[in-house]
Amino acid sequence: MTTSVQRILIVGGGFSGMSAAIEFRKLGIDVDLVELDPGWRNYGAGISLNGSTLRAFGTLGVLDAYLAHGAATDGVEVRLPHGPVVANLPTPRIAGPDVPGAGGIMRPVLARILADATRAAGVDVRLGCTFTSIALQPNGVEVHFTDGTQRRYDLVIGADGLNSAVRRTVFPEAPEPVYVGQAVWRAVLPKPPAITTVTMWPGPTAKPGVNPVSATEMYLFITEPRPTNTRIDAAEFVPRVRALLADFPDPDLQAIRSQIGPESQIVFRPIERLLVPRPWFHGRVVLIGDTVHATTPHLAAGACIGIEDALVLAEEVGRSGDVASALEAWQERRWERCRMVVENSARLGEIEVTGGDKAEHAQIMRESMIALAQPI
Ligand SMILES: Cc1cc2nc3c(=O)[nH]c(=O)nc-3n(C[C@H](O)[C@H](O)[C@H](O)COP(=O)(O)OP(=O)(O)OC[C@H]3O[C@@H](n4cnc5c(N)ncnc54)[C@H](O)[C@@H]3O)c2cc1C
Repeated sequence: MTTSVQRILIVGGGFSGMSAAIEFRKLGIDVDLVELDPGWRNYGAGISLNGSTLRAFGTLGVLDAYLAHGAATDGVEVRLPHGPVVANLPTPRIAGPDVPGAGGIMRPVLARILADATRAAGVDVRLGCTFTSIALQPNGVEVHFTDGTQRRYDLVIGADGLNSAVRRTVFPEAPEPVYVGQAVWRAVLPKPPAITTVTMWPGPTAKPGVNPVSATEMYLFITEPRPTNTRIDAAEFVPRVRALLADFPDPDLQAIRSQIGPESQIVFRPIERLLVPRPWFHGRVVLIGDTVHATTPHLAAGACIGIEDALVLAEEVGRSGDVASALEAWQERRWERCRMVVENSARLGEIEVTGGDKAEHAQIMRESMIALAQPI
């Protein structure tokens, strides 16, 4: 290792921030991580992961834990609303010949796996804490914290998500997230035997799907066009989700529909997107993950590109004696891949909302999957 970096601060303990913490500790660098949430919780139902995310887990060293607690499956089954299977999309085994090409896991379970790895790596984690000021200095950053402490760092990584305070503080000109006119519903349900892999029922505008998250459970997701971003009362969640599935007579999906109840942990989330133009760093402050590229979920690759940001950043910082060159090299390696994910995902969403060309949808899916399989 040739880097002069000895102490790093990571703001935000989501998937991207925890991955960065683990990778920088492998270089022997001191890592502080501050996370606003005192409970370090990760909300939501399941998360779908493609083969490139499983490959990243292998690099991080958490693939075995993932395979023990999540689900790994091959292929995506596409069905007509009344049931016939019209396509089986292959999911290449990117993480290795023995590791299926896709998967799903409950978000809190994945967060716990990464949090355990973060603590085991010797990261100094402070929960319920964040910065109050960030001052860029030549060759460093002076940071004051809400717990009254202050410290100087060689590098600060903003990994505090879509509504990043680091971005708003250090990059005040950066654009804000934009609502895309689509929302997603998610629920956790028992997995029936008929569901063995990711299964989707593209309808005229709504698109339901299910993905196993363990041997016994799966999560249901439904994307729904919603021109305006209006709040929905939680009391309406169960009837709304059931209503969205009413037009899909596939007996398997109707059986799933009949199981939806108050215990299904339903989450409703309007979808926003953000692609911050370069540069993604200023002095010794760099932004990773959703802070600069928050994608809609259509390629199931948001977590993937944030985790990959962390892997590549540690690699570049570890091999360069000069931080500015390392950040430039990192950005060069990350921009096109992340742009592709955000923009292709957004186009897929547009086609779904407008009931557009299904052939274009399939082609974008195929091209994106091929691009995601490339080495990072
Ligand atoms: C509805 C929906 C479905 C999705 N489905 C998928 C999917 O199936 N597959 C997939 O790969 N991706 C999916 N994504 C995208 C994925 O969830 C995100 O890309 C990923 O979680 C980003 O991780 P992150 O660590 O960059 O940010 P976040 O997960 O937002 O983490 C940020 C962390 O920073 C903390 N924080 C916030 N502010 C501060 C502060 N000021 N100081 C300190 N800490 C702070 C937060 O508490 C949080 O822990 C989906 C996204 C949405 C919205």
